[in-house]
Amino acid sequence: MLHLSKSRYCSAVQCPKMLWLTKYRPEAFDAEAVNQAVLDRGNAVGDLAMGLFGPYVEVPFGDLSGMIAETERLLAAGTPVITEASFSYDGLFCSADILLNHGGGRVSVVEVKSATHLSEMNIHDVSYQYYVLTGLGYTVDRVSLCCLNAGYVRHGELALDQLFTLTDVTAKAQALQEEVAKRIAFLAEYMKQTSEPLHPIGEQCFAPYACAFFSYCTSSLPRPNIFDVSGLQTRARLNCYRKGIVSFPDIEASSALKPDKMMEIAQELHDLPPAIDREAIRGFLSRLTWPLYFLDFESFQPAVPLYDDTRPYEQIVFQYSLHYIDREGEPLCHREYLASPGEDPRRGVAEQLCRDIPRDVCTLAYNMTFEKTRIKALAALYPDLADHLMNIHDHIIDLMTPFQKKQYYTRAMRGSYSIKHVLPALFPDDPDLDYHRLEGVHNGAEASTAFEQMNRMTPEEQAACRENLLEYCGLDTLAMVKVWEKLREAAREPG
Ligand code: SF4
Repeated sequence: MLHLSKSRYCSAVQCPKMLWLTKYRPEAFDAEAVNQAVLDRGNAVGDLAMGLFGPYVEVPFGDLSGMIAETERLLAAGTPVITEASFSYDGLFCSADILLNHGGGRVSVVEVKSATHLSEMNIHDVSYQYYVLTGLGYTVDRVSLCCLNAGYVRHGELALDQLFTLTDVTAKAQALQEEVAKRIAFLAEYMKQTSEPLHPIGEQCFAPYACAFFSYCTSSLPRPNIFDVSGLQTRARLNCYRKGIVSFPDIEASSALKPDKMMEIAQELHDLPPAIDREAIRGFLSRLTWPLYFLDFESFQPAVPLYDDTRPYEQIVFQYSLHYIDREGEPLCHREYLASPGEDPRRGVAEQLCRDIPRDVCTLAYNMTFEKTRIKALAALYPDLADHLMNIHDHIIDLMTPFQKKQYYTRAMRGSYSIKHVLPALFPDDPDLDYHRLEGVHNGAEASTAFEQMNRMTPEEQAACRENLLEYCGLDTLAMVKVWEKLREAAREPG
């Protein structure tokens, strides 16, 4: 008999081979492809949504038979709202996020998603639940999807009825019942195969979720290959792959990609010297003026708005690092800001930014769109600081430009102009610039998670976490200074 859970069913909708590999090659699963922060966020949103229909009773997580028995008991006792209500029908298991018990075998199902929009996969998810419940003889009055309302702006206490949006998808779930039955029958046969099914790489490997078996399924391809070319759209990669343009020599022979990508391929294949357009770099540097500031923000995006005047997933800056040099030959100075956990960091960031960066000075940011967007948002929030903040905003120049435009490219950048690739490519042997040596926080995602978790840490853990965050963000702007110096060096050389 086929044994299936709701999440396994959904993975099989994306690609049946995922299900097969989960059973027969579980060691091929790449856990790093799973974004734990996204899963944690989903759990937090799910917990909050449980209260949407008033008091509820949660079925405690445990062994399946225990959960199913407890659900039956709660239903029989007339409990009106049950969360994590669990069912099994013919080997098919599911837990409903919220089950509304109308009595007499009539129920409604609410599936909670932490996104701000619905996807086709969500419909497959609830269709499977509908199939299980009707198979067991329940009458399912309504199936709804509950997601976050992107337009909700918090004012005071959270208004759950406004934070969440309910969409009735009963008709869609009903319309898919035949497809669910056919898919389950197909999977029952499919999973009996003991030799690995063939399944070409395709769109299903990337969407709706990046498949955690991708490394395994592409392990027979030459390395590097078309899927290693950075910054390419999935469609462009698959077009090449389907035409047999897979290895880097294939790509070079076919000239299948745009000139900048072909240059990267040639660099990789022939180990060419760095491509440096010194004239263009001189032009870029001529726009910079003293004093020179180097700014980098760290932010987090709480799914549920934590502060007044914020929306779900709004970027909240909680930290910045700022290196600066007053004029040629002067020492490098540093300032920084890191909010305390639990407080709304925005006013503190905005005020100190205005104290730290004078008006009319040239500020460099790496990938400036982010810093500029956040500064503009702070200016809109604090009219008393808006003039100064917008002055900072208007004087930001993007240090990424020479790398994005391939005015400075080395093979070691591996086709990327992200500072995390550019820095080690320019300074391969400098341990002071190596993010790997840092404790705890090595990238922006880890910084966001660390700050979000600080609230729940002991004072000692908080102190260590603060130190890690300050060191990480400080390295980001120190890296920018070093990159700028490298550009100046390149501009000084003849050519
Ligand atoms: S990598 Fe692609 S083909 Fe392989 S299991 Fe995942 S989705 Fe299917």
